Amino acid sequence: MGQAQTEPAVEDGGTWVSWNGNCAHSFDQKIKIRSEEDIVRAVSTAQSVRMTGHGQSSADIVAGTSVLLDPSDYDRVTGFDLESGEVTVQSGIRLKELLRFLESEGWTLPCLPDIDTVTLGGAISTGTHGTTGGAHPLAEYVVECRLVKADGSVVTVREDDPAMPAVRCALGVLGVISTITLRCVPLYHLRVEEEAIADVVWKREYRQWLNEYDFVRIIWLPHTGYGWVVRGTRIQADTPVDEVAAPSRVSKRREVSRALYAKTIRYPRFTRLANRILKWLFFSHRTVAKGTLYGATVTKSRGSTLELAEWTVDLDRFDDLFAELVDGLESRDNNAYAHIPMDIRFLDADQTWLSNAYQRPVVTVGCVTRNAEHADSYEAFELVENLFLKHGGRPHWAKRFEAQAVQLKELYPRWDDFLSLRETMDPSGKFLTPYLRGLLGV
Ligand SMILES: Cc1cc2nc3c(=O)[nH]c(=O)nc-3n(C[C@H](O)[C@H](O)[C@H](O)COP(=O)(O)OP(=O)(O)OC[C@H]3O[C@@H](n4cnc5c(N)ncnc54)[C@H](O)[C@@H]3O)c2cc1C
Repeated sequence: MGQAQTEPAVEDGGTWVSWNGNCAHSFDQKIKIRSEEDIVRAVSTAQSVRMTGHGQSSADIVAGTSVLLDPSDYDRVTGFDLESGEVTVQSGIRLKELLRFLESEGWTLPCLPDIDTVTLGGAISTGTHGTTGGAHPLAEYVVECRLVKADGSVVTVREDDPAMPAVRCALGVLGVISTITLRCVPLYHLRVEEEAIADVVWKREYRQWLNEYDFVRIIWLPHTGYGWVVRGTRIQADTPVDEVAAPSRVSKRREVSRALYAKTIRYPRFTRLANRILKWLFFSHRTVAKGTLYGATVTKSRGSTLELAEWTVDLDRFDDLFAELVDGLESRDNNAYAHIPMDIRFLDADQTWLSNAYQRPVVTVGCVTRNAEHADSYEAFELVENLFLKHGGRPHWAKRFEAQAVQLKELYPRWDDFLSLRETMDPSGKFLTPYLRGLLGV
């Protein structure tokens, strides 16, 4: 006997709040969708609607419409082709569920961000990425998706569709992504070595490492003269590795960081000493581990909130930019002292119109404050943004930045094409919010 389709759960009136509390918007309705039909019905009838992910973006790109679609029950794997390794999922699936499924089938994604609690819909819509190994943002691995357009019709966008490079990373303004098919790769293992390496050394060597290693990430430790370098080499699953574990005190890093950085709200200069203490306590050892890309390189627990910015610059301009970045952050003429870590990662050129790596290999540099609620007065964000804009850098769509359409337009060769497509697909601006109107200049 067929199961009767019930109406989705609806919350009438409320406030949507992002994971760290820095973005909040009231809504008239929040609909917990469970099927594509639920999305179609909601989009057809609403004047102003967006799909949320897990709300882990720092930029105000999630809510702000009267109707919100909550995908937490729209999270299943709906198809998997063992021959080609293509997996089809509902867009609300969290990365950790997807990766567990893929690993159980002997597959994985080519490149992973350092967070597994995000939804796939949210991750691809913002250009979420990992590092090296021919790395691209997750969006680049989308081979097909079903998109619910503003008029409620559904289109299947395939890899060879001229709109695919726009749809792949679209900040939710072209439509609601219903299902996503991703191209996967056979599961592989890495030997991962982590250690602190002096800035003078890693700056000299990193280009060579990009050729030698399958995984390279530099967790830069500002104000210490060191980076925590993570390098991985592909190995067979049965290759023996002499593992070296981290000392037990490392488990206290977040706790100690939180306590030290709380003082930097009033005394930004204290950051220099705090970072040196953190380096000495938690980044002076060496570890060797073996695991899958997911198992060995992705952080699994998120005990505290933080606020993030991240910028991308052409690989060829990185060395000059980095020298200026160190000068700016070290200068005693400003209060732009930066917390640990500043994450340096590497992406190959891709073809996605709003990707940070559109048609050029890039280096991405993160900037973080552990005091999320005081992010507005964290001067490092402003210094980093000004410097990257000066070097033609592009911001991570999901993270904090101030640049608006007039500056962004110059950074993306297909900006106008993207806006024309948006106008055609959503002429009434159903998927827009005040923040997105400013960002896109609509
Ligand atoms: C601790 C932490 C670590 C992080 N690490 C990384 C990292 O390593 N690399 C990296 O690149 N980023 C990283 N990020 C950023 C993160 O990946 C993005 O913010 C991501 O978008 C969050 O996913 P989400 O499910 O929370 O999406 P949300 O923040 O909820 O949504 C993001 C956007 O996607 C839209 N959206 C969501 N689902 C759909 C859909 N189905 N159809 C259309 N639009 C949709 C939303 O409306 C919104 O505009 C990190 C963030 C945090 C907090």
